[in-house]
Amino acid sequence: MDYLPVFLQLRDRPVLVVGGGRVAVRKVELLRRTGAKITVVAPELADELRALAIQGELRSIDTVFSPEHVDGTAAVVAATGVPEVNAAVSVAARERNIPVNVVDDPAASTFIFPAIVDRSPILIAISSGGQAPVLARRIREQMEAFLPARLGALARFMGERRKAVKRALRTAARRSFWERIVGGIVGARVVAGDEATAGTDFERELRTSHLTRSAGTGAMGLGECYLIGAGPGDPDLLTLRALQLLQQADVILYDRLVPAAVLERARRDAERVFVGKQPGNHTTQERINELLVHYARLGLRVARLKGGDPFIFGRGGEEIEVLAAQGIPYIVVPGITAALGAAAATNIPLTHRKLAQSVTFVTGHVLDDESLDWNGLARTRQTVVFYMGVGHLPQIVSRLQAAGAPAEQPVAVVERATLPEQRTLRGTLATIVSTVQAAKVAPPALLIVGEVTALAAADALLGSEFGALV
Ligand code: SAH
Repeated sequence: MDYLPVFLQLRDRPVLVVGGGRVAVRKVELLRRTGAKITVVAPELADELRALAIQGELRSIDTVFSPEHVDGTAAVVAATGVPEVNAAVSVAARERNIPVNVVDDPAASTFIFPAIVDRSPILIAISSGGQAPVLARRIREQMEAFLPARLGALARFMGERRKAVKRALRTAARRSFWERIVGGIVGARVVAGDEATAGTDFERELRTSHLTRSAGTGAMGLGECYLIGAGPGDPDLLTLRALQLLQQADVILYDRLVPAAVLERARRDAERVFVGKQPGNHTTQERINELLVHYARLGLRVARLKGGDPFIFGRGGEEIEVLAAQGIPYIVVPGITAALGAAAATNIPLTHRKLAQSVTFVTGHVLDDESLDWNGLARTRQTVVFYMGVGHLPQIVSRLQAAGAPAEQPVAVVERATLPEQRTLRGTLATIVSTVQAAKVAPPALLIVGEVTALAAADALLGSEFGALV
């Protein structure tokens, strides 16, 4: 280890910054976040520093640096960009055993600034020891993306409750209790911004923490369920929250629309249970509900992973009803629904200022049901997306036409959108049935009806026949 990572308490402590240019501005911004009492020495100050000096936020000494400026300070930063001045600052500080950083010069520094992930009070400092700052920054970006934005709020939430937990639980039980909070529904709710419900859940966890035991983690408490939208298939389209909760789950119930690449992002040792509806292996919704309750009752963290969004033709509404009736806490994580995934992947804008002022998502599953307003769906200047419609494509097309949709109305069928095998077929209401049959399109696929589907076609099909396979 070339450096000892430490966190300096600088609140109300004197810190000297030498230099008044851009680099000094950046260092002053950072130092201000610590509550340090900053003095800037420089013959000329950048406007931002001048303004801060006028507001009394820092003290400025408008001259060239001399060694006495360093006296009595807790830390010194040399940011002049002039090598001789920086060297003089470094010597003066080191002679007095005061920590000094010379920007971009580790050899002249006794401390260096790390790349920082700031979720105060959680702070992560990353350093390459000055060898590869770009690499350190990249690691920081990766952590920024992975760590919940409200991690700091979670730390504060826990801090506020430490005393109560200390009173209620013996030392041995405390650690697993806290692990349960961080890794369970309470933490998930705080991170999702719902501190009020989290507070109530926390109280309940504390009261019931001795009742059950999680087989997966050895942690105690009642089970819980995360209803997670897995998006249209491309694992990179999972939300950050979906990933975070998939890392926590003990059991994952997933259906047919969730590809292996998405499951791979879950915790390695989580139990994976397929509950898809498939010929020969038909799990009914009742059975899925039973399984959710069963695993949660074991005290486990259950992820119910569903294709697209749980609340768009996903029966998520029924599942949360069951969970609520059983008193099992749950959280719903939205996913990118297939229509949005398909639209982006095929450059079809679902609304368009000139061509479509509205978009409707319809299930093409229950066509005999007269609850669908076919006259409304047949109108032009809008976009209609049919889910679960490929099997009934001829009926959908003939009902739309019977309701007055023009035969030349542009349409597209997108099969396995966002997945490597994605195919897009374009045509009109008159041609799409034969095109889809010839290409042997299979579920999952979407039918998109509307003028917008011709837009990208004009672009993508230059020179080839309208209605051809792209
Ligand atoms: N909850 C899901 C929809 C479930 S219904 C969502 O929000 O996307 C299942 C239907 O979704 C399929 O029949 C198909 O019409 C559509 N679908 C799901 N994933 C798809 C994909 N990758 N490509 C095309 N259609 C898809």
